[in-house]
Amino acid sequence: MKFVDEFRDGELGRAVAAQILDVVEPGRHYKVMEVCGGHTHSIYRYGVDDLLPENVELVHGPGCPVCVIPMGRVDDGIAIAQQPGVIFACFGDMLRVPGSDGTLLDAKARGADVRMVYSPLDALRIARAEPDRQVVFFAIGFETTAPSTALTLMRARAEGLENFSCMCNHVTIVPPLRALLESPDLRLDGFIGPGHVSTVVGARPFEFIPADYGRPVVVAGFEPLDILHAILMILVQLREGRCEVENQYTRVVPYDGNPAALRAMAEVFELRPHFEWRGLGFISQSALRLRDAFADFDAERRYAVPGVRVADPKACQCGEVLKGVIKPWECKVFGTACTPEHAIGTCMVSPEGACAAYYQYGRFARERVLS
Ligand code: SF4
Repeated sequence: MKFVDEFRDGELGRAVAAQILDVVEPGRHYKVMEVCGGHTHSIYRYGVDDLLPENVELVHGPGCPVCVIPMGRVDDGIAIAQQPGVIFACFGDMLRVPGSDGTLLDAKARGADVRMVYSPLDALRIARAEPDRQVVFFAIGFETTAPSTALTLMRARAEGLENFSCMCNHVTIVPPLRALLESPDLRLDGFIGPGHVSTVVGARPFEFIPADYGRPVVVAGFEPLDILHAILMILVQLREGRCEVENQYTRVVPYDGNPAALRAMAEVFELRPHFEWRGLGFISQSALRLRDAFADFDAERRYAVPGVRVADPKACQCGEVLKGVIKPWECKVFGTACTPEHAIGTCMVSPEGACAAYYQYGRFARERVLS
């Protein structure tokens, strides 16, 4: 397939791996964080890290949108889903994220009308088809998915739909990265920048990382050669004493982002003063809410929600996984009490979650044998 097969070529992969071996300094340990859950998934699906020298370590970041939703927000969603007459629409992996009293799937089993959708427009279609019911869309995701929610709300307003609203959980990528860089727990040498988010925001917003924290960033695509190439570009920067933002994913990511998508987001959303992230706590100005002009479509203004902060289960170490402090298999319940079928934490739910990637591609068994 054009633009896919070329980026999965094993010979080329081995050639880039040889170049990586040439640029690393033998006595130095390199820690590179891939911010995006899509990268984590590709790395383990294709065994990218098996091609790296032992002193190049990949650390997984907080870029899986389902993983960062805290339990309290799930509880708020369930409270809305259980209101009489409500149809609650959300993405499939969100259905299995645990709140303090089960998941949205459990709420559905108890009688709530919870439906899986593939896009906000699917939820809008349900609202048009069921004018006597209230349809609430549970919006999640980074800047990657926020524009489609914004455009859906603009369309709902243009059509004068009164039975459609949105519970907005969209988050932004820069504040958690800044929080990670401020953390004393973590020493990182560079970042593989998030390819999906960057299609919307561009590569420019990451310039603060080299400017303020002295770490290189290379925005990368999702095929194995993209990721290997990005790692090589980071290591070359370190070798040459450079520190800047580079864009490996030029076939998709414009350096300044997508102006139409950014305009749609700016029209519909504004920053929340603060927002809770699972395992990371409250981070200021890290999430979006609907502007007053869209208040009629804001489910949090239409419905009373508990809005209570709920502590993660004691056994759950998702916070440490999301910060890259531990590897998934180091969590005490990984692969035993916590599996994709019975997840305790969010990182095991979404395919983009680091724990799910390790579990799915058998990494947990190998790591335990090696440790
Ligand atoms: S194994 Fe489960 S509880 Fe542990 S960090 Fe992963 S998702 Fe969280």
